Amino acid sequence: MPDIYPASDEFVANAHVDSAKYEEMYAASISDPDTFWGEHGKRIDWIKPFTKVKNATFELGKVDIKWFEDGTLNVSANCIDRHIAKRGDQTAIIWEPDDPKTPSQHITYRELLENTSRMANVLKAQGIEKGDRVIIYLPMIPEAAYAMLACARIGAIHSIVFAGFSPDALADRINGSGAKAVITADSAPRGGRRTPLKTNTDKALQHCSDKVKCLVVKHTGDQTTWVSGRDIDLRAEMASASTDCPPTEVGAEDPLFILYTSGSTGKPKGVVHTSGGYLVYASMTQQMTFDYHDGDVFWCTADVGWVTGHSYIVYGPLANGATTLMFEGVPTYPDAGRFWEVCAKHKVNQFYTAPTAIRALMGQGTEWVEKHDLSSLKLLGSVGEPINPEAWNWYNTHVGKGRCPIVDTFWQTETGGHMITSLPGAIPNKPGSATKPFFGVQPEVLDAATAEVQTRTAAEGVLCIKDSWPGQMRTLWGDHARFEEAYFSQYKGYYFTGDGCRRDEDGYYWITGRVDDVINVSGHRMGTAEVESALVAHEAVAEAAVVGYPHDIKGQGIYAYVTLMNGVEPTDDLRKELVKWVRAEIGPIASPDLIQWAPGLPKTRSGKIMRRILRKIAENDYGALGDISTLAEPAVVDDLIENRMNRA
Ligand code: ATP
Ligand code: MG
Repeated sequence: MPDIYPASDEFVANAHVDSAKYEEMYAASISDPDTFWGEHGKRIDWIKPFTKVKNATFELGKVDIKWFEDGTLNVSANCIDRHIAKRGDQTAIIWEPDDPKTPSQHITYRELLENTSRMANVLKAQGIEKGDRVIIYLPMIPEAAYAMLACARIGAIHSIVFAGFSPDALADRINGSGAKAVITADSAPRGGRRTPLKTNTDKALQHCSDKVKCLVVKHTGDQTTWVSGRDIDLRAEMASASTDCPPTEVGAEDPLFILYTSGSTGKPKGVVHTSGGYLVYASMTQQMTFDYHDGDVFWCTADVGWVTGHSYIVYGPLANGATTLMFEGVPTYPDAGRFWEVCAKHKVNQFYTAPTAIRALMGQGTEWVEKHDLSSLKLLGSVGEPINPEAWNWYNTHVGKGRCPIVDTFWQTETGGHMITSLPGAIPNKPGSATKPFFGVQPEVLDAATAEVQTRTAAEGVLCIKDSWPGQMRTLWGDHARFEEAYFSQYKGYYFTGDGCRRDEDGYYWITGRVDDVINVSGHRMGTAEVESALVAHEAVAEAAVVGYPHDIKGQGIYAYVTLMNGVEPTDDLRKELVKWVRAEIGPIASPDLIQWAPGLPKTRSGKIMRRILRKIAENDYGALGDISTLAEPAVVDDLIENRMNRA
């Protein structure tokens, strides 16, 4: 495998940004952020133009972040109204349902305007006003986008809760945000099964104020109980509501949404994003990272319950007048070719997914990819965790056919948009590296222990960001002190990402995973991602998660949870072989001490492995697993506990 993959000459020639332009723009964005962002801030429409650009301090005790603070705008007008003259009849959203036999829908910008305005009028009729919070607990249906944009239209703050979350998790978020209403559906089809959203909402609302309204989309027609005075048939109300709803003027720093993080490292945090800077950043990254051009069909496979769905299904693409695809289903239903079938059906040009999905599909064999015509694809993207070279190679060869650049985008719920990512026409890719910073982002590598800034190009440590960028979160909902404590207290004057990283001699960044995922074996520090990547490179292994556990001699031992490829038998011989394999790939120090066969791994709905749970089980301390409300399939945890390897 070569180490570096430049885009083709043809791709570079058509790209928004080539390498010379990247260097020039990046330098300008750092040397004079006010001028740079003052210019790029104009990519969106302002009701009252801003005169101030950046106003931010990371000083502990005074952390305060503002962008374009005296400007006013409306986010939904930016995502819809301003496109109508030119693109009223262009498809804004392609909706692909869970069941491939159900027809897909093409929603034009004009229809998006009508539906959003109708829903906004229904919300208003229920007494929802500017600044009020609304919970969205919906399947991946067009109403999810209408609901987000309807809130934005009237200046209400939405908070989306994954459709897979439990009633408890939902109740926490309703109460935590002080929401006045919940928008939900009867049920959510996913992979041929149904989640009873309305029933879950009924249970959640038992723990909430009885003033909370419940707006229900009758999507599947499943029977639900109806509480009169509280429950509202949303589609019926929309049908009779006016299609005219003038957008409310909001300040650049008025909140657009609250989104609770996936909780893979602790209790979920209510991340607050505001209107102006977020929209500038989401739209600019969507256009440049994916090299989106007018007329392209863009597909981000995330759920809107994840920040990726906010920035790259809804706000970024729609602010750019793009055609964005929204998929209700899962990659393996009705078969492992579904992603590729949808790409072929809708002639998708940019495809953006997570390594966990790639690995799962890789485990099913290549015949599923080969069956479908993927010639429309121009670019592939990855997000959520470092992509191991094995998966990168498979994605590149079998999906991209070696001709699509792969952008590996490092970012967080907290960052609003991409932070470190290749720009495909400008930065050749190295598999497994997120490459270089986006405009305005100043990454620094600090020594984890001494906090010293590493000035040599090749360096290793923790990843911090030196100054603010427009998409940055502004606070944690109702808890500014926790915001400062969680992100600014560890390394004074910096935003701390929580991630470790290495910068190579070419200035490329390699994210090595959460700092709390670093283990120390006999005095050697190593990222668990490296061991996982070695395990996954073995042909029998589909997925692996590695954690440390207390070891008498080594300090910490290596505990690996391994999911095997379909049809591979878990045997003791295979265990020995895997240990030998890792020794050969990395060295004896990285040999797993314990390997547990894991039919499934505990994951958040966004596909992230919840290592803190695996750590507890490996430590034989499974009584207090903490908040597991965000787990996609809680049942896998019971199996792991039952078959745990460390019973000391
Ligand atoms: P919580 O903060 O509650 O633990 P979370 O961090 O899992 O939740 P997200 O904001 O969705 O929630 O995830 C951001 C994290 O995902 C990053 O900090 C990083 O660890 C990882 N990540 C995302 N994209 C990449 C990438 N391209 N390469 C490497 N790591 C990535
Ligand atoms: Mg995080």
